[in-house]
Amino acid sequence: MHELSIATSILKTAEEEVAKVKGRSVSEIFLEIGKISGVEVSSLEFVWDMCMKNSVLERTELHICETGGLAKCAECGEGFKIEKMFDFCPKCHSPFKEILAGKEMKIKKMIIT
Ligand SMILES: [Zn+2]
Repeated sequence: MHELSIATSILKTAEEEVAKVKGRSVSEIFLEIGKISGVEVSSLEFVWDMCMKNSVLERTELHICETGGLAKCAECGEGFKIEKMFDFCPKCHSPFKEILAGKEMKIKKMIIT
């Protein structure tokens, strides 16, 4: 499952950060997930607990912020917000566009104790 590998890579980053500051665990973590990144927030939450058992993220409070997508139409140049990867341009209805934002998935902040 896609979300499982994401959770695993978040854990790897968290372990490195905790080791860097010689901390014990992470009390809170803030993730930013783009609406068109393809990451299902509910699936990620579903695998989270299982993945984080006995790790630095076991009792971590998880905060997820979903960020909206932005695109620029390849046909008419219109800039518009998108919710889904396959949204059309609202002006000319072209499906061709350049994605400007919303595909990213990152750890915004971690509170290490
Ligand atoms: Zn257009």
